[in-house]
Amino acid sequence: MNKTKIIATIGPASKSKETLRELVVGGMDVVRINMSHATHEFATEVIHYINELNEELNTNVSIMIDLEGPNVRTGKFVGGKAFLTLGDRVRIYMDELVGDSTKFSINYPGLLNDVPYNSIIKMNDGMIELQVLEKGTNYLLCEVLKEGIIENHKGVNIPGIKLSMPFISKKDYEDILFSNRMKIDYLALSFVSSAEDVLSVNDILIDLNNDHIGIISKIENESAVNEIDEIIKVSEGIMIARGDLGVEVPMERVPSIQKNIISKCHNIGKVSIVATEMLATMEHNIRPTRAEVSDVANAVLDGADAVMLSGETTVGKYPTDTLSIMEKIIDSAEEDLDYLSLLDKAMRTEKQDITGMIAYSVVECADRLKCKAIIAPTISGYTARKMSRFRPSCPIIAVSPDRSTVKSLNLHFGVTPIFIEDLSTFDKIIKKSKEITKTLMDTNEGDKIIVTGGYPFKEVKHTNFMKIEEF
Ligand code: PEP
Repeated sequence: MNKTKIIATIGPASKSKETLRELVVGGMDVVRINMSHATHEFATEVIHYINELNEELNTNVSIMIDLEGPNVRTGKFVGGKAFLTLGDRVRIYMDELVGDSTKFSINYPGLLNDVPYNSIIKMNDGMIELQVLEKGTNYLLCEVLKEGIIENHKGVNIPGIKLSMPFISKKDYEDILFSNRMKIDYLALSFVSSAEDVLSVNDILIDLNNDHIGIISKIENESAVNEIDEIIKVSEGIMIARGDLGVEVPMERVPSIQKNIISKCHNIGKVSIVATEMLATMEHNIRPTRAEVSDVANAVLDGADAVMLSGETTVGKYPTDTLSIMEKIIDSAEEDLDYLSLLDKAMRTEKQDITGMIAYSVVECADRLKCKAIIAPTISGYTARKMSRFRPSCPIIAVSPDRSTVKSLNLHFGVTPIFIEDLSTFDKIIKKSKEITKTLMDTNEGDKIIVTGGYPFKEVKHTNFMKIEEF
């Protein structure tokens, strides 16, 4: 049972019910749908399939919708693409036109005012670089510093420049309404720059009366890196979106930023997700490189809650093989995870209250007594989230009669969320905890579990008991 969670982005290569079934059985915890590319029709189909599979397989895979965000994109080109040659002059028009190798348009007219002379504009994942030489009435005249092919609707990055684009576009707002209607579990926000950006989406969710969706802030530019502490505080979790981040800040800074964010998230009990190009070779190749294997393993060893697949599962040739390789790498890395130092770090940064003391004692006991599992009966998921931060070496099985709580725990390290019909008397819970442990793992006489939570259920809002049970 892996503790580090896997998010798989769904695209043409994985959208069939058969492939989704293989991914669910193979250990995918969260499905991600990227609204920069997906339509509502596509997303609806995937969400319906996942809902059906959850029923058929008795699983609880969650859904994450990733908003496009304030992203500048190129318009259309004759034949879909154009080659921009080193040293050539190119005009970027603010009004829509069909581009070629001398001119093209973008979707954000405000760029004309936002960029100063000499700014660097990057496109196609940073492969192409332009420098702004002149401003016309409705165009920017640029010189090509790095040549390459540019295609329709590709991302445009302007490192270090704060754009005056609204954080939530009309399209994003429609996608939030759609997410609310479809009862999805996580909303990933692209190009967050500040805590205010996150709070503005939170306000929309409050207006919609939606207290279920967890907000995941994607860190992909310099301002987000600078404001990270404030952004973490107001988010359910953070995604280190290394694709755009590696274009917006010098690529060589990405590994340290990643480690720093994972550690900060762990310090305050928020979820961290490492994303992009983790097993990129597997888009075309049945085997990853050693460096990619190391990348996944290092994310686990650093204490990330989740790792993510993008191109590998959206357009790759081997979506299910990639997932299974990722599982194997996680499994192996978790054997070497320094649980003790993560527990120590959690303890040093935890409030010294009843919940904190019980969480610490439960995890320490579970590790010392080599317990099979920690069972956390929960209404809101509070105890399971706390236990996750203390990083026990055994699984945390969160049992809840609330389906939305079950789905909300899918990104938390070590937590296996399970739906149960009833959470009433203490005796019933202890009995049920033993039954569930037996169905999930091999148990022998003398094996132990720890049951922990807040009792009486529904009345107490913090963790106040632990009970060690023997088989
Ligand atoms: C990224 O940039 O790394 C990322 C995860 O975002 P997207 O896939 O939306 O580009």
